[in-house]
Amino acid sequence: MSEIIMGYLGEVALKGLNRITFENVLVKNLKTRLEPTGSFKVYRAQSTMYIEPLNDKVDMDEAYSRVQKTFGLANVSRATICEKEYDDICKTSIETLGEKLENARTFKVMCKRADKNFPMTSMELCYDLGGYILEKYPHLKVDVRTPQMVVYVEIRDFAAYVHGGKEPAVGGMPVSTSGKATLMLSGGIDSPVAAYMMAKRGLNLMAVHFASPPYTSDRAEQKVKDLAQILTLYTGNMGLYVVPYTKTQEHIRDNAPSVLFTVLMRRSMMRIASTLSKMYGSAAMITGESLAQVASQTMQAIACTDEAQDLPIFRPLIGMDKTEIVDIARKIGTFETSILPYEDCCTIFTPPHPKTKPSIAEILDAESNMDLAGLEQNAVDEAVRTYINYM
Ligand code: ATP
Ligand code: MG
Repeated sequence: MSEIIMGYLGEVALKGLNRITFENVLVKNLKTRLEPTGSFKVYRAQSTMYIEPLNDKVDMDEAYSRVQKTFGLANVSRATICEKEYDDICKTSIETLGEKLENARTFKVMCKRADKNFPMTSMELCYDLGGYILEKYPHLKVDVRTPQMVVYVEIRDFAAYVHGGKEPAVGGMPVSTSGKATLMLSGGIDSPVAAYMMAKRGLNLMAVHFASPPYTSDRAEQKVKDLAQILTLYTGNMGLYVVPYTKTQEHIRDNAPSVLFTVLMRRSMMRIASTLSKMYGSAAMITGESLAQVASQTMQAIACTDEAQDLPIFRPLIGMDKTEIVDIARKIGTFETSILPYEDCCTIFTPPHPKTKPSIAEILDAESNMDLAGLEQNAVDEAVRTYINYM
């Protein structure tokens, strides 16, 4: 009996003429994602990705978990392939789902017949297979509304597939189909969640992290690298640049009004990230900001940050509460790493009472009294040498 993973397309299935392009990227992403788990054949038909192991050395559990986390699929199932013949379908249902049926009290059969040449209608197959199962397991009762167990049969072009029902996958669009963007990655809870949300909309990510040693430690930097590695389960690959930011940050601290420090620093970070983005073909930037969360996330402070450079900035968490963000962080597995208590460059030198409503005029005035361009260019030059590609 051969097992197969089936991935059912989500939003991609709604695309028109360019749907094939999206599907091709999804096939490629699935292949890359499955590489560490063994050899698979990945092909598509009828709004479904077929992920078939090529030998018995594959790790099916790990492969299934990876497919479930690949953006572009709305649902997944783990099915057994059989002949498109009633007897074989009955036999396969019992062989693969018998143990679960034995332990259930209620069940129902669901059938989908995409191949209209199959001699029975979906209804007939449901009815007959249901009767067959009841004969084998007389303790069972049929419950069409809330069954404990589903026996799902799909009659498709290549074969029939039997499984215990579809499970939700992560949805979204295949990574890379929307292009490439730069993630501003701190070690906090928010930015990894922002990464997940924008990769979900089809963006391939490169991450930029600002470090200010000795104020920030090696362990803080390692934490960010660990987060990048965890995120690859969803984002596919993720390149990371670490920007040595100490000198620029000290310059701002020593040469500008302290109440404006945070916004000036964030503008400078944005300029550096923008330069790196343009060097590496990234067309937007992403942050984990959420309106009113801290002084630098008021509308006025955000306006000042946006004005510093010309790439669009995506802020997927802008309307979310911290509890909602934490829920996603737990779900995607970044939370436990994010709460490790190491300092971030954004939390050093911060004034006790930062200005929550800075104006562009006073910010530009403060910048005219500093000499940041050279320092920022040095930071870019040094960051280029730190590149690591996580997979
Ligand atoms: P997070 O939980 O993501 O750290 P936060 O609530 O701590 O967010 P801030 O520290 O103000 O908020 O940072 C807001 C956003 O700025 C972060 O979500 C991230 O996108 C970016 N950012 C903050 N610190 C850094 C850093 N050291 N390197 C790169 N980006 C950063
Ligand atoms: Mg932070």
